[in-house]
Amino acid sequence: MTPEGTGRALVVGGGYAGLVTARVLADRFDEVTVLEQDHVTAAPEHRRGTPQSRHPHALLARGADLLEGLFPGLRAELREAGAPVSDFGQFPMLYPAGWSPRVRTGLALQTFSRPLLEAAIRRRVLAHPRVRLLDRTRAERVVLNDARDRVIGVRTTGDALRPADLVVVTTGRNSRLPAGLSTAGLPAPDVLRVDGKLSYTSRVYRRDTASPPDWQASLQATLAPTARRGGTVVALEDDRWLVCLFGADGQSAPTDPAGFAAYADSLANPHIKDVVTRAEPLGSIYRYGGLGGQWRRYDRIRPWPGGLAVLGDALCVLNPLYGHGMTVAVQQAVLLARELDAHGPADACARFQRRSARTLLLPWYLSTSLDLGWRPEGASVQALLARRYLARLLRRIPDDPELYRRFLAVQHMTASPLTLLVPSARGPSARARRGGERS
Ligand SMILES: Cc1cc2nc3c(=O)[nH]c(=O)nc-3n(C[C@H](O)[C@H](O)[C@H](O)COP(=O)(O)OP(=O)(O)OC[C@H]3O[C@@H](n4cnc5c(N)ncnc54)[C@H](O)[C@@H]3O)c2cc1C
Repeated sequence: MTPEGTGRALVVGGGYAGLVTARVLADRFDEVTVLEQDHVTAAPEHRRGTPQSRHPHALLARGADLLEGLFPGLRAELREAGAPVSDFGQFPMLYPAGWSPRVRTGLALQTFSRPLLEAAIRRRVLAHPRVRLLDRTRAERVVLNDARDRVIGVRTTGDALRPADLVVVTTGRNSRLPAGLSTAGLPAPDVLRVDGKLSYTSRVYRRDTASPPDWQASLQATLAPTARRGGTVVALEDDRWLVCLFGADGQSAPTDPAGFAAYADSLANPHIKDVVTRAEPLGSIYRYGGLGGQWRRYDRIRPWPGGLAVLGDALCVLNPLYGHGMTVAVQQAVLLARELDAHGPADACARFQRRSARTLLLPWYLSTSLDLGWRPEGASVQALLARRYLARLLRRIPDDPELYRRFLAVQHMTASPLTLLVPSARGPSARARRGGERS
């Protein structure tokens, strides 16, 4: 590849992963076209194709740093738009074993609505002269050459063939690519699944800025095998709160206002119920169920066709409670760029699928191990050991600020999980925080 770019790239799906991918491809291709099935405007709006945008989206520190690298000034732009930032260690988190210690971590968390983030990224990506977005354009399938070893383009509704040297599929968690690839003659990928039968139920409220609390987000975790209910409240731009009630192992909060309030009232975290009881609701209640983890192992399909890459949720869907999805997607876009620079579009893609599988191992284990506690049958010994280790670690967190700091750095993907194996001194005063004293 020359630095000024060669060839045509197609990105299928204009959501979060599609947009960040288009950004990295713009430096490497003459023409980058993003195909998006929904109608898209410049405004921060919810779309049918991304129903998760009604629910809280935390961007982990590693993801925020990578995004800032691709879009310098993004963090400041979001702050200007009213999205607050503070240290993640300052947020009250209620685990079954007690409240998290309040620690300084250097891990900044900016809270915003998902539409605001996507609109800010989209505006910057589409300002690039080599990128265009075709909305209301649905891709039906990826097309390979006769030898089935190279992608030649994508068929869109109406059977138009859009030729391309590189096709990147970012069609999200409900991606129909596996069916499309079998039609093109490739085997279906193995699929790993861990389903904690999780649901999110969310509603927006007005945030009174006259007497703000000393936190910007507060959370109560669900945890197998007993804590099926949880929730979170986060500050959004435009002086709003977003309250989300979690239900695990098949539980879910009702979508009628009285049932929603009763569910919030059943939680031990007082911040969530306070907002639900006192603040003015600003809209309907939305539920998103079936939030299990799912990893399509495209890396195991050999040979893999040249010029085809799959990333974001179309590749791997992670339990949203741990907030890895957007971080992993931007990490993958950056990795794809590196592989393209080193090997060109024909050879980069198989390498990319294999290397992205390696980078997915940590977030996959972090976000699925604990869910095995709901239904451990059939899990591997490694996965069960990881679960036992993480569950023990979470029990120690209320009493151990140093361990908590390290745990957050691993969760935010800024430190190796090996750092958790170093013994830490228990904070003697921390025991006092147990049992809800922090509220
Ligand atoms: C309830 C919930 C809460 C979450 N919370 C967090 C969080 O706190 N932090 C975090 O990092 N992640 C979170 N996630 C995960 C995050 O939403 C995803 O990881 C992220 O959106 C992945 O981006 P994507 O582009 O792969 O998919 P999406 O953003 O879903 O985009 C897919 C796009 O493809 C389009 N599309 C689909 N099929 C076609 C087609 N055939 N032709 C053309 N276009 C098509 C869709 O319309 C859509 O625009 C959460 C997810 C859920 C469900």
